[in-house]
Amino acid sequence: MKRILVTGGAGYIGSHTTLELLDAGYDVVVADNLSRGHRSAVEPARLREVDILDTPGLVRVMQEQPVDAVIHFAAYIAVGESMKDPGLYFRNNVSGSISLVNAMQEAGVRNIVFSSTAAVYGMPAVVPIPESLPYAPINVYGETKVMVEKVLDWFGQTQGLRSVCLRYFNASGADPAARAGEDHEPETHLIPLLFQAIETGTPATLFGNDYPTPDGSCIRDYIHVSDLARAHIGAVEWLMTGGVSRRFNVGTGAGYSVQEVVDAVARVVGKPVPHTWGPRREGDPATLVADSSSLRNELGWAPRDSALDRIVETAWRWYNR
Ligand code: UDP
Repeated sequence: MKRILVTGGAGYIGSHTTLELLDAGYDVVVADNLSRGHRSAVEPARLREVDILDTPGLVRVMQEQPVDAVIHFAAYIAVGESMKDPGLYFRNNVSGSISLVNAMQEAGVRNIVFSSTAAVYGMPAVVPIPESLPYAPINVYGETKVMVEKVLDWFGQTQGLRSVCLRYFNASGADPAARAGEDHEPETHLIPLLFQAIETGTPATLFGNDYPTPDGSCIRDYIHVSDLARAHIGAVEWLMTGGVSRRFNVGTGAGYSVQEVVDAVARVVGKPVPHTWGPRREGDPATLVADSSSLRNELGWAPRDSALDRIVETAWRWYNR
């Protein structure tokens, strides 16, 4: 049985990927310091409480139970926070990833799937976005992911490390069996914030309806977290069967506006969503949609759960668990 080390496996995307790996018959070890993740998201026997900056600790984890590949999620994800405290983001996301790669070298592990982001493209000039666009991040968070993609590339060129960088679009939804879901503190993502507005009656603030889109609100490529998780399995299998290092967008290629998401939430929940339209949020491009043809053609991946109502319905089930 192949064994995978999942860093950040107690977080949102990491916990869903762990479930999909187990469902697919892999053994999984999770390394997480629980600074942002949740203890309850991981089976206790799989959890190793170790910080990503603790290189010897990571080596010990990989020597105790040798692994065939690493899937690396452990990172901070809030754009606004990254601009207020860049040191925190460069240390945890960049130095943490270098620490992990050094540990992998020492333990003789050569395959890594890296949790990257559409934020590496900044305000893209071409939509749907192909992977070939140049790096152009517009915030510290996006820059940390660019830096790690480059580190992985150089370790590939010089040390034989093989990597797949998956550039996520808008991860959303929850495990359809409600075994896991989204639970950020504080929450910044649109769909859970709309649920909170319904629950509390306090209107959600929507960031701008004066964009050059059909209804004036921003368009994003919402991808169900379980579909995203399955892309990691495809990526890990690609590497373990000798595939070369690659970078793939992970999105559906379909975009929905903020207004369409609000309508879907009202439809699925069966209640109106209290909301007000505020000004634009700094750094929000009008439209972010993936060209995901490489992932589909080369890894044979296709979304199964990413219809908007399915995303909202699974997220709502988890919200009410
Ligand atoms: N959004 C919003 N109000 C909020 C949070 C998000 O209008 O309180 C909008 C945001 O401007 C973007 C979309 O919802 O157009 C998705 O934002 P989210 O923060 O969920 O993900 P991001 O696109 O930043 O990764």
